[in-house]
Amino acid sequence: MALKQNNLHVYNTLSRSKEIFKPIAPPFVGMYVCGPTVYGDAHIGHAKSYVSFDVIVRYLRHLGYNVRYVQNITDVGHLTDDADQGEDKVEKKARAEQVHPMQIAEKFTRSYFEDMDRLNVRRPDISPRASGHIIEQIELVKRLIAAGHAYEIDGNVYFDVASWPKYGRLSGRSVDQMQAGARVEVNAEKRHPADFALWKRIEPGHIMRWQSPWSLGYPGWHLECSAMSMKYLGESFDIHGGGIENQFPHHEDEIAQAEAATGKSFVKYWLHNNMVTVGGQKMGKSLGNFITLQDAFKKWDPMVLRLFILQSHYRSPLDFSDEALGAAKEGLARILGLSERVIRTLMQWPGGLSYPIPRPSDDRPFVVDARRRFSEAMDDDFNTPLALAAIFDLVREANRSIETQTLSMDFLHSIYYALFDLCEEILGLCAETSAAASQYVPALVQIFIDLRNEARAAKNFAQADTIRKRLDEIGIVLEDTPEGTKWRFK
Ligand SMILES: [Zn+2]
Repeated sequence: MALKQNNLHVYNTLSRSKEIFKPIAPPFVGMYVCGPTVYGDAHIGHAKSYVSFDVIVRYLRHLGYNVRYVQNITDVGHLTDDADQGEDKVEKKARAEQVHPMQIAEKFTRSYFEDMDRLNVRRPDISPRASGHIIEQIELVKRLIAAGHAYEIDGNVYFDVASWPKYGRLSGRSVDQMQAGARVEVNAEKRHPADFALWKRIEPGHIMRWQSPWSLGYPGWHLECSAMSMKYLGESFDIHGGGIENQFPHHEDEIAQAEAATGKSFVKYWLHNNMVTVGGQKMGKSLGNFITLQDAFKKWDPMVLRLFILQSHYRSPLDFSDEALGAAKEGLARILGLSERVIRTLMQWPGGLSYPIPRPSDDRPFVVDARRRFSEAMDDDFNTPLALAAIFDLVREANRSIETQTLSMDFLHSIYYALFDLCEEILGLCAETSAAASQYVPALVQIFIDLRNEARAAKNFAQADTIRKRLDEIGIVLEDTPEGTKWRFK
């Protein structure tokens, strides 16, 4: 697909300004986003982060870029203290539940993807696990030691920040400031308080362990992202995303590890999304205002949550409240209501609904205007609130036209595609969520079971067999038991 004309600008944390987006080797775009540490249920903070980056990827693809989207799974090495101290989060949870750490990692990796599926977040192209890339991480540490940027003491390996003058560039901190601001240093092994662990020797009882040239141990948390992003995207790539809270030390350390090893510029554009607050307060497990996605979904349709997230800019904080969610629910109903109305009107039109629905030959001025405003908003650092404002104006104008003007098929097709292209393909808002499917499938299957029973009671066995056979063909198996007919997926 040819690249569409665009004027995309993105806010780059590295330069603290909006820059024109020019990938290193267009139309290819390499994009890496820090993924979840899989030791607990995903929460609304994860939803904001991964919905935002999902829309960024969708928009880049809409523009014609060939995006390779990599998002890691952290299953080892992330300690309870984001710096180098404390216990491995996955191991800690495994100990509490008396299971193997990999069971915890697997369980929460699956539930993470299930939650994201419900939010209609498309899965990344590659989801590399840290524990599956130990060799690559050890190789990177070897390169850093050989280049004089890392040192080993007693089985632990640290990055030597004093050897890397650019350290602090992303977060705007200098190594001297870090020295002055450092609390009493508990780790006497480090040459400088800001030095960070690349490899850690295991303590007794530590289960996740690998042999290395330095000790039986495990990698430092920051290392995986440098190693895995460069493995799949090359030593220099276009976009690195993540939460604003990971600018320091995580992303700063990623840059240092990569650039000190390769001598090349690591990432061209750094994109950071902001966090979720609840009633104006930071969300946290310890504060008791922590909202998991599974809890949120009990109350709110995942698509309502998705629209709510997109109604604020990804770089702005998002305050979660029932009132705001209620407003998003109404907004979603307006968009989906128009979509249904267009389909219903087409169905009533003789020969009106045919698949695929034809693209219109042209759009009315208000549709052209909405599409232009949407593109301008998205080109301005993915400004989804402004893009949505254009959509809501389109919805209002389209409803008015349907009520007051002579309609044409072309016009209805034009509205259909404006909603499809902008809302569904780019913003990922659609009625058919897996939640909706999981709600309707059992009810629909039950209707067929009832019809089959009626056919059997009327001794119309051919009809009953046809129903069973047709369901079987689409993967739904009926089983007659003493308690009645049960069904399951094949
Ligand atoms: Zn990362």
